[in-house]
Amino acid sequence: MRLGLEVEAVAPVIRSRPVGPSQREYANGAAVISTSLEPLELLDLLQDVECWFGRRRQGQRWRSRTLDLDIVLWSGGCWADAVLTVPHREFRKRGFVLGPAARIAPHWRDPLSGLTLRQLANRLNRSSAKA
Ligand code: AMP
Repeated sequence: MRLGLEVEAVAPVIRSRPVGPSQREYANGAAVISTSLEPLELLDLLQDVECWFGRRRQGQRWRSRTLDLDIVLWSGGCWADAVLTVPHREFRKRGFVLGPAARIAPHWRDPLSGLTLRQLANRLNRSSAKA
C-alpha cells in the first residue's frame, strides 16, 4: 500500500519508563519523513496507522497504548489549530523524543526556541543530571 510518505531516516529504538500510571515500558523511536501531505492530512494518516496497530481512542489520556505517532517538527515551521500543534507542545521536555530525534536530525532547529535538536537534547540531559 502506498501512503505517500518517504522515510529519510530512522533512529535506533530506545526503551523508556512510562509517563503517568501506565505499567508498561515503551519503545521509542523517531523518523524523518518527507511527504506532500499537508500537516492535517498527515495527522489523519498517522491516526489511521495507530488504529491499524490496534489503538483505540477512548478518552483516557494515560491508557496503555499500542502505538502513538506524533508530529514533532515540520519543515514548514509552526502549525497551530484546534487539533494539531507543531512543534509538538511537549517534545522539549521528553528525553525519549529528543534522544532518538537528535540521532537522526541533530541540526534540525526548533523554530520556537531557536535551538537544534542536539542542543535541546543536551540541555535536557544536563538538567536531568542535576535533578
Ligand atoms: P495523543 O494522545 O498523544 O495521541 O494525542 C491526542 C491528540 O493530540 C491528537 O488527536 C491530536 O489532535 C493532538 N495533537 C496536537 N498536536 C499534535 C502533534 N504535533 N502530533 C500528534 N498529535 C497532536
